[in-house]
Amino acid sequence: RYSAGPSAMKREGRSPAAETRQEGSVEVSVVLPMFNEEEVVLRMYRRLKAVAEQLNARYELLFVDDGSSDSTADTILEISLNDESVTGVFLSGHFGKEAALRAGLEYAAGQAIVTMDGDLQDPPELIPEMVRAWRSGVDVVRMRRQSPTPDRHLDFLLYSPRAATVLSLVVNRQRYMKDVIEWAGLRETVITYERQPRVAGRSKWTVAQLLGYSRDGTKTLSSVCARILMLMGFLGFFAGLTYACYILIAPIGWNDPASLVPLTSATPLLFGGCVLYFLGWLAEGMEQRAPPMRHPNFSIRMFARNGRMSAP
Ligand code: UDP
Ligand code: MG
Repeated sequence: RYSAGPSAMKREGRSPAAETRQEGSVEVSVVLPMFNEEEVVLRMYRRLKAVAEQLNARYELLFVDDGSSDSTADTILEISLNDESVTGVFLSGHFGKEAALRAGLEYAAGQAIVTMDGDLQDPPELIPEMVRAWRSGVDVVRMRRQSPTPDRHLDFLLYSPRAATVLSLVVNRQRYMKDVIEWAGLRETVITYERQPRVAGRSKWTVAQLLGYSRDGTKTLSSVCARILMLMGFLGFFAGLTYACYILIAPIGWNDPASLVPLTSATPLLFGGCVLYFLGWLAEGMEQRAPPMRHPNFSIRMFARNGRMSAP
């Protein structure tokens, strides 16, 4: 059924979801990535369901299991079997939040798509306000955290399929999305909200991720090498600069040109440092523009919808 592959379906302008459903029958899709959230899934579902029922819109809820090792996937499957409006998307392995979101978007059929964290840190009660803003005619409704770095986080959003198409071209979504919204001339509304603490479970960030590895697989060994190059370059440049200053300031006397000869040995350090640093800088920039190592859509093996399970 889905053998055509995502790019082929994109070309026809239809998502897999639109293929099996009546065209345009869903107004609002909510996509939630879930990784080891067994303590939260059911609570998330109940709160979200209550809000969705008040929407006055045909809606669907897409729970994406990012290869959880706990009972998250079972719970999602059970919910999707009992509730027509819930779709479970199950990744074959743990691919990271970004990949989970992309996979979910591939199946979202709504005219407005909401993405949000699955741990109730983004209150679902704000969705009606987002939908109202969207109905007034914007492409993107961006939920801006009150604190501490409001514009760096783009987890909680509503967008039209047209905006989704543009944004799907962006590889490192978190980093570039805000710029792309502006660049593409998409109309957006920004709503400020207060992010809540997690209701249960733990944040999925690991120490390695916090040290600069991204968990979505877009950063690899080469970006670590780039960082090392930048560090070496910086140290070299700094050492050269210190040495040069020392030679110039040392009270050997300006009258004796011979005392400036050691400067020639500081020069390669200075220039070498600069070159190394910018080499690392360029390498890192290229790394960020490279496509992800594994395309998330290859990871979908099993797909349940409307009470029926189907395998591609
Ligand atoms: N998540 C995911 N895959 C991951 C990490 C996180 O699907 O590899 C989901 C997670 O289940 C949650 C959301 O992404 O619904 C946000 O994750 P988390 O709460 O760990 O991030 P934080 O809020 O701490 O930034
Ligand atoms: Mg969280």
